[in-house]
Amino acid sequence: MSDGFTGSFTQQEPIPEAGIEAALKVLRHGRLHRYNTVPGEVAEVALLEEEFAAFTGANYCLAVASGGYALGCVLRALGIGAGDRVLTNAFTLAPVPGAIAALGAVPVFVETTEALTIDIDDLAAKATGAKALLLSHMRGHICDMDRLMAVCDAAGLKVVEDCAHTMGAAWRGTPSGRHGIAGCYSTQTYKHMNSGEGGLIVSDDAELMARATILSGSYMLYGRHRAAPPAEVFERVKYLTPNVSGRMDNLRAAILRPQLADLPRQCARWNALYRVLEEGLVATPGLQLIARPDEEAYVASSFQFLLPDWPAGKVRAFLARAATRGVELKWFGADEPTGFTSRHDSWRYAPAQSLPRTDRILAGLVDMRLPLTFSADDAALIARILREEVAAVFQSDAEATESPAAD
Ligand SMILES: *Cc1c(COP(=O)(O)O)cnc(C)c1O
Repeated sequence: MSDGFTGSFTQQEPIPEAGIEAALKVLRHGRLHRYNTVPGEVAEVALLEEEFAAFTGANYCLAVASGGYALGCVLRALGIGAGDRVLTNAFTLAPVPGAIAALGAVPVFVETTEALTIDIDDLAAKATGAKALLLSHMRGHICDMDRLMAVCDAAGLKVVEDCAHTMGAAWRGTPSGRHGIAGCYSTQTYKHMNSGEGGLIVSDDAELMARATILSGSYMLYGRHRAAPPAEVFERVKYLTPNVSGRMDNLRAAILRPQLADLPRQCARWNALYRVLEEGLVATPGLQLIARPDEEAYVASSFQFLLPDWPAGKVRAFLARAATRGVELKWFGADEPTGFTSRHDSWRYAPAQSLPRTDRILAGLVDMRLPLTFSADDAALIARILREEVAAVFQSDAEATESPAAD
C-alpha cells in the first residue's frame, strides 16, 4: 500500500472562458437584477430559462436562488402547508426534508432499496393521507419511474422531483424532472452546473408555474419571462400569491448558459470516470456495487458502494486506511452528521420514524465525489486503492472487534 492519491475531491473545473466573459459583460453594465433591462434587452436569466426549458422539453422554466428554494417554492405553489404530510426519501440530503418542514408540513420518510432508490412498496403503504411525494433522485440513482408514477397516480399523490443529482439524466428516454408535476435542479458548486448557488424549476403546469414565478419575487414583471405561462394565467393568481423572494440574478445566469450548452459533453466525461471506477471494483469480496438498470441513463457526479452488514468498527478502519492513501470517502452510517452528510435520525424537526431497511443500507453506504478534475488514470488509481483497502480490512478479524479512534 505504497502509492497514494493526491487529487482534491472538492475541486471542480474552472468556469468556462465563455462564462467568465459573459459574467464580465454583466458586471461591466451593472444590470445584475433580472428585471433590470434596457429597452430591447433580454435578461440573461430569461434566456437561461428558455434554454433550460428546451433542454428538458418542458413548457416552462423558472430560475431561482438555490435548489432548496426550488423545492420549497414548488411545494408552496402546490398549496402544501401546515400539517400536510409529504412523503420523501429517507436517504437524501438535508435540503429535501428541510423544504417540507419549512412550510410547516410533515416529512414522512420512505424506505431505501439496495439500489439506493426509494422503496416503492413502502411508498404505496404510506401513500394514504399524504398530499405529495418529494422524490429525491439521491446521488443520481433513479427508481423504476413507470411503477412509481403508476403508484402515485393511483393514490392521487403529486410528484415533485428533486433532480439535484440527475440534471441531464433520463428514465426510459424521458428526462429526469419530466415524470412528475415539476422538476427541481440545483446549480450549486457541487452539482452538474456551477454558479455557486442557484436553482431551476421545470413544469408543464401553467398555473403552478405562474404561482411559482410570483412566489419567487417577480413583482408584476412576469411579462419579461420567456419560458413562463401566458399573462391570463398570472391574472388568476397574482393577487393571491405572496412574494417569497428567491430570484436568480443575471450574473449567475451568464455563468450557467455556456455550461448548459456544454452539459451533454460533461455528462459523458462524468460517466466515463464512473465506469472506470465501477470496472476497477467489480468482484471485490465484501464490496457491493450499486445496480444500474438498463432503463436508467444516469449522470454520475459521485460514486457509491455498499459494505453490506460490515460492523461499524470495520467500516471506520477502512475509511481511515483509504484516507491515509488520499481517498476521501463519506459514510452515511456515522452516528453524528458531518459535512454535507446527515441521516434521517438527525432531522429531529420531523417526527422520529422507524426505517430499519434504510438504516441497514446506510450503515454500509460509502460515498465519494467524482469531480471532473480527475482523469481516467486517477479513477483507476482510486479504484485500486479502494480494492486493496477493502481486501485488507474485510479479511482481517482483528479490526472487527475493536474500533480505532472515531473519525
Ligand atoms: C444539493 C441538493 C439539493 C439542493 O441544494 P441547494 O444547496 O439548496 O442548491 C437538493 N437535494 C439534494 C439531494 C442535493 O444534494
